[in-house]
Amino acid sequence: MKRIAILTIILAGAAIAAHADIVADIAAQIPGQAHSYADTMAAMQELHGTERVNCQSIGLTREGRHIPMAVICDPEYDPRQLRKLLIFARQHGNEPAGTEATLALIKHFATSQGPAECALLRRVALLVIPMANPDGAAHSRRRNTAGVDLNRDWVARSQPETQAIERVFHEWQADAVIDLHELPAASSKPSYQENFVETIASCSTLPALLGQRCGQTSAQISIWMRRYGIPLNCYYDTPGDDTRLAHRHFGLDHKVPSYLFESKTGRGRSLRERATYHILGTLVIANQLAYHHGGEPLPPVRVATAPAPEAAPTPEPEITRVALGDPVPDTRREGRTLLWADVDGTDEFAYLTFEMDGRVLVLTNQAPYEYSLDPTVCGAGPVQIAVRAFDESGRCLATDSRTVTLVQAGAALGQ
Ligand SMILES: [Zn+2]
Repeated sequence: MKRIAILTIILAGAAIAAHADIVADIAAQIPGQAHSYADTMAAMQELHGTERVNCQSIGLTREGRHIPMAVICDPEYDPRQLRKLLIFARQHGNEPAGTEATLALIKHFATSQGPAECALLRRVALLVIPMANPDGAAHSRRRNTAGVDLNRDWVARSQPETQAIERVFHEWQADAVIDLHELPAASSKPSYQENFVETIASCSTLPALLGQRCGQTSAQISIWMRRYGIPLNCYYDTPGDDTRLAHRHFGLDHKVPSYLFESKTGRGRSLRERATYHILGTLVIANQLAYHHGGEPLPPVRVATAPAPEAAPTPEPEITRVALGDPVPDTRREGRTLLWADVDGTDEFAYLTFEMDGRVLVLTNQAPYEYSLDPTVCGAGPVQIAVRAFDESGRCLATDSRTVTLVQAGAALGQ
């Protein structure tokens, strides 16, 4: 399918005859160099009071900088009656791509007359905080002026920045939350090798609808990223995970769909490429919120849900095949076990999941298909590992599984 044709669908529940690549249009506004704090405030000021945009300061930092927020919606509607998507970027001051993505989104939605954009703004109000840590951004450092890592402050909420965003969440009763970050170019963490999204898994102690919505949305994000040639892994959080991180605080404590985006730097990836990842992901979530999280019934969800036992598809020559490889020690990280799969994919193939005892560990949309299992987290002993390939509708195309006996790192080293 041509990109031009599919892009109209991203922001439209119904068929709308737009002929624009919305993502490319928005990304075209990304400058070569990141906005400074002053540039960001100037850009916000320019948009304030335009028909669809209302900018406000939601708080002051310790160094006296404003934390700016833009509310974007159709002026014919009361934004509080619409669904509210809260997006914040740059809790870490040295991760600029989210700021650029959100500024470009605000500018685009401020004036676009595209039918898909207009339709979206009649359903969803966007609450956008492009620079959550202005002091950190001004000094190009991760932490705020008090030396606090804001994305570890969501249990204590001891800082003006986290308090301001928490206040916005409650005042507006946001329906979903997105937190935008960047990953360093080099990292020893296996999960840090590529762009990723983290969201909430289905779990018996969480509302079923929450897991369904997050699972369905993460599958859509993966599908759209693949269409744009953007590699992505998606990981799932469950109760017990560290809620000092914003997306887990909003997802697990406040129980709204919540998404962490990390764009991978390095490998020659420009600011525009990294921002494009955030733009595309945000649009997919806005679209899901507008068209799929209402009273209408949800289609069956096949990810982030313990799958019901089903008959294995009959293998035929032209179908997608997956084969779970023999788990091997992960040489990148001692004590871990690398799960890997081979995929012989047809055009139907969209993404793959690794599952352990029926729980989805990761959803991944591009080779190499692998997941590094940490026995210190999942415990030792036999577990059932499965790998499943899906098409865009969430239909399982192929599956493979085996019992794997996990060994604790110490035992593996003979200690
Ligand atoms: Zn970060």
